[in-house]
Amino acid sequence: MKIISSIKEMTAHSEELRRKGRTLVFVPTMGFLHKGHLTLMEEGKKQADDLIVSIFVNPAQFGPNEDLDTYPRALERDLELCEKIGAAAVFTPDAGEMYPEGFQTYVELTRLPLHLCGLSRPVFFRGVATVVTKLFNIVRPHKAVFGQKDFQQLTLIRQMVRDLSLNIEIIGVPIVREADGLAMSSRNKYLNESERSDALLLHQSLLKAKEMVASGEKNPARILEQARQILNSCPGIKIDYVSICDIATLDNLGEGERIDRPVLMALAVMLGKTRLIDNMIL
Ligand code: AMP
Repeated sequence: MKIISSIKEMTAHSEELRRKGRTLVFVPTMGFLHKGHLTLMEEGKKQADDLIVSIFVNPAQFGPNEDLDTYPRALERDLELCEKIGAAAVFTPDAGEMYPEGFQTYVELTRLPLHLCGLSRPVFFRGVATVVTKLFNIVRPHKAVFGQKDFQQLTLIRQMVRDLSLNIEIIGVPIVREADGLAMSSRNKYLNESERSDALLLHQSLLKAKEMVASGEKNPARILEQARQILNSCPGIKIDYVSICDIATLDNLGEGERIDRPVLMALAVMLGKTRLIDNMIL
């Protein structure tokens, strides 16, 4: 497995593999790998000859009061996991390599970021779209794999690939959860014992919503009310948003609109100092 930190070297390596007729699949990550990431990699390996993983904590997607400096890192362990899974290469640039002095070009979508996480994280999706575009140009994959854990991000990447005519197939992978239902996330490491158990309410409120829809509830307001009640039962949880929205546009279901098709229920909370997100298709 090659470990590459220079852009020039990464592109040269990908070009060499492509010249040999190999198909490349790419899994971008911010590291501190868990089973969610590994599932994306396993899926990738089924879909192409060579798997390339990137590990880069992208400063451009963090706001000034967010957790860039404390974001968990474990590069040695991550590299071992990538090696074990059979990655052909891991790209680990530093921030100076990706955003050299004078950097000033960003990729921005006009509508999808105006929902859900974009509202409380105004630079987040600009940072994501920019870094993913750069990584696509550097790694030159045929396919790339993203998790539905970050449903809005996946939607935005698919849109960006269409809008910019990028010739890359985007593959989405369902959320990987702990045995008790908590969606896996590098940020779960921040949680203390009692927060870890409070965090189960996220999945529980989504399950309750699904159950309500299954038993005939079609009014999104009632489902949202129930979910808020479940989350608010824990004083440590501060809701950022709980939304039921259209799967494609991410527009909230309007006043009086009924659930008459699969819709996305998505939520974000602060649990102490930790921001957690989760979602489910209802
Ligand atoms: P991150 O390192 O958090 O930026 O995530 C890298 C990729 O892994 C993204 O495409 C995420 O959506 C995906 N991912 C993270 N956690 C999970 C999970 N629990 N299940 C599925 N995919 C995940």
